[in-house]
Amino acid sequence: MSTTISYAELVGLLEEIFLRHGTDKVAASILAENCAMCERDGAHSHGIFRIRGYVDSLSTGWVDGRAIPEVEDIAPSFCRVDASNGFAQVALAQARDLAVSKCRQTGVSVLAIRNSHHLSALWPDVEPLAREGLIAISTVNSFACTVPFDGKSPVFGTNPFAFAAPLEGGDPIVFDLATSAMANGDVQIAARKGHALPPDSGVDKNGKPTNDPQAVLDGGALLTFGGYKGSSISMMVELLGAALTGGHFSFEFDWSGHEGAQTPHTGQLIILIDPSRAAGESFDLRAHTLIAAMQAAGVSRLPGQRRAEIRAQTLQNGIPITAEDLASLRTLAIA
Ligand code: NDP
Repeated sequence: MSTTISYAELVGLLEEIFLRHGTDKVAASILAENCAMCERDGAHSHGIFRIRGYVDSLSTGWVDGRAIPEVEDIAPSFCRVDASNGFAQVALAQARDLAVSKCRQTGVSVLAIRNSHHLSALWPDVEPLAREGLIAISTVNSFACTVPFDGKSPVFGTNPFAFAAPLEGGDPIVFDLATSAMANGDVQIAARKGHALPPDSGVDKNGKPTNDPQAVLDGGALLTFGGYKGSSISMMVELLGAALTGGHFSFEFDWSGHEGAQTPHTGQLIILIDPSRAAGESFDLRAHTLIAAMQAAGVSRLPGQRRAEIRAQTLQNGIPITAEDLASLRTLAIA
């Protein structure tokens, strides 16, 4: 049976769960908003389905829900944060104002977060920055579950890459995509629902191509999207998300002693650019010109558009949720 829940109610319920399972108030509020935003926007691979993974990561002591991030002001355009084994979004919140002010002063800034955990989508991190007029790029590496092109075993994570930029007269342009053939959360959802994966998504534990999501999860691995091209982008994500931040590569951490933990212990890189420094007509007008040309060419769906449409619907009508999922969230909030 399906029902609905308002965005505010869902945030409140998720906050209770995070507090109950070991975060402080700041982390509970940031993570609850982040997870509820994903559910609100129909980004289901990182919505409430992830709550069990957050709870297990916290209860096994894999991630510190009360960590205090340490912000380091390194150079006019560079800041770093040691997330102290806490969540990357909490570290970002702590360093955000500094990174934005550096970007406004110098035209560009880099925010390098390490010793951090990120289990969510990246668009919630970059979209608000574009709403403030900045171009924002973010990468995060994850856990070794993706085979590099021409390789035989997983080295890369699903390694998403997100971009957000202001658009004159509209919501920011945002894309946010895993560099693996699909996000791991979608493989888990397909396994639960008994759906086959699209061709060329993954291999089984013997390295044979498979469209069985369970075979990918049981010792198999994903492939990168677009063959060698996606593999190069995924390699870049490892370099930016880990080598440049001081975090772990996706193959470098061992969480085997923390059964059920799902939060990759890696790093996150955010690059901010102030488009007001650019030559020519203003960037957001130029962005508008490009989007108009794409639409004139027949493009009917822009990246981010599906989410924006679902967001408008769910803010008005409530977020659909099954009675079973709602009951398990309520149980987690008290147990
Ligand atoms: P999708 O393939 O569903 O979508 C990728 C992007 O393409 C989105 O911006 C989407 O917009 C857009 N898009 C999708 N279909 C079309 C279309 N037909 N025309 C135009 N644009 C389109 O996402 P992924 O499965 O690759 O990734 C899902 C999420 O998983 C991401 O948010 C990512 O950050 C997250 N992730 C997080 C990880 C972590 O470790 N924290 C690891 C891996 C992934 P729209 O959103 O509007 O559909």
